[in-house]
Amino acid sequence: MIALRCQNIKKSFGSVVALSNATLSVEKGEIRALLGGNGSGKSTLARILGGAIKPDEGQIELYEKPCALRSPAYSKRQGIVITSQELSLFTNLSVEMNLLMCNIPKRLGLFTDHKELREKALFILKEMQLDHLLGKKVSDLSPNQQYLIEFAKALIQKPKILIVDEITSALYREEVEIVKTMLRYLKNEGASVLFISHRMSEIYSICDSVTVMRNGETIETVGIEEKDQNELLSMMSGREVVDKFPLI
Ligand code: ADP
Ligand code: MG
Repeated sequence: MIALRCQNIKKSFGSVVALSNATLSVEKGEIRALLGGNGSGKSTLARILGGAIKPDEGQIELYEKPCALRSPAYSKRQGIVITSQELSLFTNLSVEMNLLMCNIPKRLGLFTDHKELREKALFILKEMQLDHLLGKKVSDLSPNQQYLIEFAKALIQKPKILIVDEITSALYREEVEIVKTMLRYLKNEGASVLFISHRMSEIYSICDSVTVMRNGETIETVGIEEKDQNELLSMMSGREVVDKFPLI
């Protein structure tokens, strides 16, 4: 079952062509890396899928049905959740309140019984070894803790397709391990992940496959075992990589 299919997506901002052709399919339960240099269009594709911006051309299918992602709320209702380093937390509220608020349907209001939501928030935070932060005010957390809570907020929304846009670049090794554990958990639940990162070691340790982007275009999708990191780097840059890069 194909969870997400993008066909020939194009997007320009004025004279800047951010995406000239993004074409990819992600299976249900697949963790797909999106690898490309700065400015290659990864975040633009993420934002299109999240409904924040509209593509100029192209088709998107979710679970093999055409789908026009017209707004962030609509994408969210379809189960597409994006997490990035752009924090959307209310810093003067507790972690728990932030996690509860992101999942409460508007019609219920704030004062309904949130027992189930509370349990879910606690479960996710326990899995992330962050349950000690539940009652803390977000402004009292370190920046990295805030990124992890932002990530927890994405998980609590039960994503069918989770897009992780470079959240790991600021994190320490142990924190990245927490993110990886949670992505594996999501995969086991049948969700799909689009994992944007430039750290090869992360991509090789967690992803099933990788789509390489260059200059707004998806160049190729390969299984993770099919190419070594120098081959991926040369696909990314369009040049033969002569020097061996250390594993980063
Ligand atoms: P990546 O995430 O791969 O680094 P982006 O998708 O952020 O790449 O950007 C792709 C190109 O589109 C870049 O040249 C960037 O400057 C441009 N771009 C992205 N968003 C905007 C915007 N809102 N306005 C103008 N140009 C943009
Ligand atoms: Mg980006």
